[in-house]
Amino acid sequence: MSQNEQRRAPLANEMPMLGLGTWQNDDADQCAESVRTALEAGYRHIDTAQAYGNEEAVGRGIAEADVPREDVFLATKVWIDNLAHDDVLSTTEESLEKLGVDSVDLLYVHWPAREYDAEETLSAFQQLRADGLVDRIGVSNFEPRHLDEARDVLGEDPFANQVELHPLLPQEELREYAAGRDLELVAYSPLARGDVFEQPEIQDVAEKHGVSEAQVSLAWVREKGVTAIPKATGEDHITDNFASLDVDLDDEDVEQIDGIDGRDRQVDPGFAPWN
Ligand code: NAP
Repeated sequence: MSQNEQRRAPLANEMPMLGLGTWQNDDADQCAESVRTALEAGYRHIDTAQAYGNEEAVGRGIAEADVPREDVFLATKVWIDNLAHDDVLSTTEESLEKLGVDSVDLLYVHWPAREYDAEETLSAFQQLRADGLVDRIGVSNFEPRHLDEARDVLGEDPFANQVELHPLLPQEELREYAAGRDLELVAYSPLARGDVFEQPEIQDVAEKHGVSEAQVSLAWVREKGVTAIPKATGEDHITDNFASLDVDLDDEDVEQIDGIDGRDRQVDPGFAPWN
């Protein structure tokens, strides 16, 4: 299998390096349509969360797409109000019901905040995995100290840490942490919610390759060994982002983007562990 084929259709059961984000895709019909369009365009990884209020629509999109459920890597997240042990169990069952699936491929702790308690929360995640409702345990917005604690409780690294990551927030420390471990990084807001489009370095590289700024940002994330889950609503953005799998940046491009010194964090609630 060539590297390009592998990027598009990884081995069964692996997490594809490009997924579709769905935060704020809140109109149910539109959200279902975006998910269906993405799957039919070749995406095989969909990211949602209890807090997005769209699990039912995401499930409908998956059911309506001409792609078997078992070919789709589906991830959702347990909200911070639901992280007490029994609430993890009951609300995850509700999520599966809304999604219309028997299990999800990945279940994340959305933030280490509010009701999060490593022992209580993660033991419930382990129970869900043992019961076959969840294939993998993930975390999101975790810093190294939370990852260390989670590893102690789980007896292994979580499968993935989903964090904001893009050329304006390259997250060197978290990338270094993951590199030495069995831990995937998943980049949320990989387009910095549109802010990367304004960066002259990204514009230069896009012009050189004759591709969009979005594709350059996503190809840069992939170069760092990180999975990206850009949110896109209409077919134009959905297919533009998917075409990033064909963009190969050279060392000079990566260096130019690494050299951007502007910093920008898009998602910064008061309960974030860094606040
Ligand atoms: P993003 O993916 O960086 O940016 C999304 C924005 O870019 C939307 O306005 C979208 O417009 C636009 N866009 C997408 N593709 C484009 C293209 N090719 N050309 C021009 N514009 C384009 O931001 P995000 O939604 O914050 O992050 C992505 C996903 O990560 C979320 O949807 C969610 O699934 C996840 N997330 C997780 C967390 C967490 O705490 N774990 C936090 C934030 C996000 P249209 O919608 O009009 O296409």
